[in-house]
Amino acid sequence: MQDAATPQEALPWHALEATAALDRLATDRHGLSAAEAQSRLATYGPNRLPKAARRGPLIRFLAQFHNLLIYVLLAAAVVTVWLDHVSDALVILAVVLLNALIGFVQEGRAEKALDAIRGMIDPQATVLRDGHRHAIPADQIVPGDIVIVEAGDRIPADLRLIRARGLKIDEAVLTGESVAADKAVGPVGEGVALGDRHSMSYSGTFVAAGMGVGVVTATGARTELGHISTLIGRVETLKTPLIRQMDGFARHLTYAILAVSAAAFLFAHYLRGYSADDAFMTVVGLAVAAIPEGLPAIMTITLAIGVQRMAARNAIIRRLPAVETLGSVSVICTDKTGTLTRNEMMAQAIVTAGGECEVTGAGYSPHGDFRTMGSEIEPTRHPLLMELVRAALLCNDAEIREDSEGWHATGDPMEAALVALAAKAGLDTALVRKQFPRTDEIPFDAQHRFMATLHHSHEDDGFILIKGAPEDVIAMCALERHADGDKPLNRAAWHSGAEELAARGHRVLAFAVKPARQGQQDLSFGDVDSDAVLLGFVGFIDPPRSEAVKAIADCHRAGIRVAMITGDHAATAREIARQIGLSEHPKLLTGADIDKLDEKALIAAAHDACVFARTTPEHKLRLVSALQADGHIVSMTGDGVNDAPALTRADVGVAMGRKGSEAAKESAEMVLADDNFASIVAAVREGRTVYDNLMKVIAWTLPTNGGEALTILGALALGLTLPITPVQILWINMVTAVALGLTLAFEPTEEGTMRRPPRRPGQPILTGDLLWRVLFVSLLVVAGAFGLFYWAESQGRPVAEARTLAVNAIVAMEAFYLFSVRYAHGTAFTPRGFLGMPAILIGIATVAAAQAAFTYLPFLQAVFDTRPLSLLDGLAVIGVGVALLVATEAEKRVRFTVTRRQARERS
Ligand code: ATP
Repeated sequence: MQDAATPQEALPWHALEATAALDRLATDRHGLSAAEAQSRLATYGPNRLPKAARRGPLIRFLAQFHNLLIYVLLAAAVVTVWLDHVSDALVILAVVLLNALIGFVQEGRAEKALDAIRGMIDPQATVLRDGHRHAIPADQIVPGDIVIVEAGDRIPADLRLIRARGLKIDEAVLTGESVAADKAVGPVGEGVALGDRHSMSYSGTFVAAGMGVGVVTATGARTELGHISTLIGRVETLKTPLIRQMDGFARHLTYAILAVSAAAFLFAHYLRGYSADDAFMTVVGLAVAAIPEGLPAIMTITLAIGVQRMAARNAIIRRLPAVETLGSVSVICTDKTGTLTRNEMMAQAIVTAGGECEVTGAGYSPHGDFRTMGSEIEPTRHPLLMELVRAALLCNDAEIREDSEGWHATGDPMEAALVALAAKAGLDTALVRKQFPRTDEIPFDAQHRFMATLHHSHEDDGFILIKGAPEDVIAMCALERHADGDKPLNRAAWHSGAEELAARGHRVLAFAVKPARQGQQDLSFGDVDSDAVLLGFVGFIDPPRSEAVKAIADCHRAGIRVAMITGDHAATAREIARQIGLSEHPKLLTGADIDKLDEKALIAAAHDACVFARTTPEHKLRLVSALQADGHIVSMTGDGVNDAPALTRADVGVAMGRKGSEAAKESAEMVLADDNFASIVAAVREGRTVYDNLMKVIAWTLPTNGGEALTILGALALGLTLPITPVQILWINMVTAVALGLTLAFEPTEEGTMRRPPRRPGQPILTGDLLWRVLFVSLLVVAGAFGLFYWAESQGRPVAEARTLAVNAIVAMEAFYLFSVRYAHGTAFTPRGFLGMPAILIGIATVAAAQAAFTYLPFLQAVFDTRPLSLLDGLAVIGVGVALLVATEAEKRVRFTVTRRQARERS
């Protein structure tokens, strides 16, 4: 195939024989030694693509000003200078600058936090080093490493394949070709295009099916992916539908403010006889009052804090909009193994034609006894048992290893449990595997639910071992093994035996053997579909996670349905569902049941079923669609490569961080660092909290701006003296937005959050309720400000003093309103409501100090034209604040009563 003219040493990797590739890379099929790998890592560097350059700090800082609201403020500052109000202009600039600084610092922190969170799901890869399998971070891979890949894996570096078993690779990232390419180990022509190089698999592509082993030819930027793009680690902006909706709102608000301001200018100048200069300054005050300049930054920060809190609970958000969707999830579909259970398997029961025996022990430790009817037996005296155990060891890819903390599994936990079982039975596991080397295999796949291996020893002709789900393995068998020879298979008896083990909550695997054909060197599906001899079953225990029990109860209280979707046996699934409190008598559908239903019938059937057993990834996809058609917001978990479509389709796709494939993680909105169901529920809770907090930020900010703007408009309309000046408004906005508004981003979850039903999806931000609240509180602020202003004026005190009083009153009202806003679903009049959390208390203390400075410091008195106030004034200011709190709480109580009554009437 190769060009005769090209000498062997100059051939590209794909045109080279596999063994020549190994030689050129100075390695062999057992992999590099740890020391050699270390030294190559020092030479070639980590297997990482250079990160896309981030926006520099200056650009990030300048970007803070790129906002329509800020443009309006800057324009106002320019005109103010032109009108000779230099100190006013300086205050406007100070506010804009402070705002940008806060945005810059907080956004930087948020981005850093998100980076760190993304780092938590850095990919792993399986390599052979010193002849042993190791799971290592993919960036530790070096040229010459032997990498093992299977369905769902992301190829971690460029590989020259040395073994390919039904290997299909999705190379769309590199070639744009959507059909997965078949791979083989033979060399291909030197000049063939990337997409036709069957002997290679390239970094960044995904294994669609099968398994393969390859030697690493290039890492990091030297890979094909590195050549075509050096831009990796796409920088995600902190935007979600809600934030975008809010941005849109802010834009419309700005236009409205400009229109009202223009009208107010004309009104003041022509009808009220203000000089153009005065009229303009009043209008600047109005615009400044009405613009919620701090809002976008605070919302972004609220969101980032939510993402961080979720990460702290092991839920890593990959796509930001999921933070909001999580809050409205109404069904959580979850895997069983490892998510609801611990995935710490132990083989506990063995069934052969000779009877059942029990195995004792703990974890993956290779120590334990075999017992029948309570008395210990010597396994080596039971040939049926030993043959099954040997099959379990050979048809198996896992290893167990001891370290200072105990015994651990590498590979599939169930297979590791089988290795421990073989050791308990007295087999020298390494020796047996050497005696019967594997010639070929059909890897396990959730679709066909079995795995088969072909072995040859020096003495015999070879044999095939099969292990898998009992129904599937029994279907392949014609005979069953007895101590005195093979007999015709009693299917019914074996089926009910499997059923009985499963009903005890055991996960059951069946084992079978079949002689190989003469000279057989490879294995295909046709070789295992009939005439095998059944050896027996192994039953595993996999204890439920205790946290899952509580999390399920939480979901039920929160109006969220939980559905278990498992590949496992119906009886096992039913028993585990009972143990974890999903349901005492769960309605169960199997994959076979689902196959019989059309879309409409499935929607009806899925409506109240909570356990789905013996399902395949296609069933998952159909279920997600059916539940969505039934009006649900669906969260779905998955781990395998074939789960990707269901994860993409779900509203919140959740991939397992530990046992999940890279393909599943890539399609998911969220990755669970600990594979734990309880983490999904924690994320839902945080999702509800984030949404609540965003609403609180809005509900607090808008009336603040509304109150100030209405105060100015009211004074203008009625021809009264302005109770607050434009610079004073800026002062209020600057102090309160930062010290008070920001505290809402840190609000903890409100009590009862998980006792409410899920939020209706797609609800607009500005609901009628919220608009009413904004108007109501705005009017209260106006009343308070005018009230104190005229109270002071009526005593014949100077305007400047009355204004100082009005400003303090507005700030006090905002501070007290904060206490009310913190509880959207309950009263603020509780000890916790008053003492709150440190952020609020710090915020209030800061504002109090700032107000004292504003009122009494000569320097600030000069800038803001303020006057010192008396103790009585101080009491009046606090009194107005308390009055506002009482009024808003009373309104809340009335609103709750009305809503509750309406809900009762509806139901
Ligand atoms: P879930 O997390 O959805 O509960 P599961 O582990 O129960 O998943 P799968 O992994 O799809 O489901 O496995 C389905 C069935 O295939 C298992 O019940 C078991 O009978 C069989 N099986 C699982 N792993 C292996 C394996 N490594 N070799 C052979 N058979 C297996």
